[in-house]
Amino acid sequence: MKMYNFNSGPAILPAEVLQQAAEAVIDFNHIGLSILEIGHRTEWFVNVLEEARSLVKELMQLDDSYEVLYLQGGATQQFMQVPMNLLDEKATAAYCDNGIWGAKAIKEAKLFGNVHIACSSKDREHTYIPRELSVPQDSAYLHYTTNNTVEGTQWNFIPEANVPLVADMSSDIFSREMPFSKYSLIYAGAQKNAGAAGATIVVVKKDILGKVSRAIPSILNYSNHIEAKSLMNTPSVFAVYVSLLTLRWIKKEGGLPEMERRAQERADLFYDTLDSLDAFMGKVDKRDRSLMNATFTTQNPEHEKLFLDICKNNGMVGVKGYRTVGGLRVSMYNSLPLSSVQVLCDLMKDFNEKHG
Ligand code: PMP
Repeated sequence: MKMYNFNSGPAILPAEVLQQAAEAVIDFNHIGLSILEIGHRTEWFVNVLEEARSLVKELMQLDDSYEVLYLQGGATQQFMQVPMNLLDEKATAAYCDNGIWGAKAIKEAKLFGNVHIACSSKDREHTYIPRELSVPQDSAYLHYTTNNTVEGTQWNFIPEANVPLVADMSSDIFSREMPFSKYSLIYAGAQKNAGAAGATIVVVKKDILGKVSRAIPSILNYSNHIEAKSLMNTPSVFAVYVSLLTLRWIKKEGGLPEMERRAQERADLFYDTLDSLDAFMGKVDKRDRSLMNATFTTQNPEHEKLFLDICKNNGMVGVKGYRTVGGLRVSMYNSLPLSSVQVLCDLMKDFNEKHG
């Protein structure tokens, strides 16, 4: 029996994507070869890559001033690749300090130039999104994490800044409509809403490139990847294919408006239940709650393990909080059915009756 999958990433994928990916491992498009066996410069794979890149653009409604790249190294590599390509040694970039992942991005950026902290939620353990930002006019860019996977907060507005906007959208990409053309660079590991681990999506507005004076190693230079159409070296062929299948699924299901409607529906069900029960409590400010990753705890700390055991015994995975943070967390990405959230809510209600 399939488990209820609340994993934070790698995470749940649509059943039909898994089926299609499995078939392609045996025989890709009936060509007599596995997707794992074809060359990355064959027409077969070039078509996959081109369709995936153009679907990203289509879903985000971006024009040709943007390029979509499929890279490797995860979002973590982008923490350093972004400043390496965009931040000169003596220049300053503004960063929002709203969680574990953002802090890692800040640490890497400091290796390349000056970092100005535009806002921080450290004072309350990143349980909210600050409304006040300070962004120096001459900042090379403003960087922020649209959804804080670990802490369970999400920006539901776009930070105001008259400088290029750079966003780590790893955990909420393709989950909601956004004015993506306001951004100069967007990156995300594919392993949550956009496919399998191993592929990293980078969407870049071409006019921000070529402005830093440092020498950039070839493989880390976005301009080289643009020129090579994401085929500078061997890409993660299978992960890109799974990403394509996932993007096709998103489009077929109704695109980002429908993903957003489903995300809201799941989150409403979960948070309404959470707020109605004495045995549990949410961890972050209500107005900043993430639609993707809900963080919470048991009112009685001793009950946490008990609840986790109950979840496990009922076929659930991914209910435990991030390893360094603890508590409880459920991730509710695009393909998580509402019915899975309902099963979890029923368990929580039952737990509340017994232990609330
Ligand atoms: N940023 C965010 C917001 C994340 O959630 C994660 C991973 N969960 C990362 C960055 C790191 O991604 P990766 O493991 O692909 O390097």
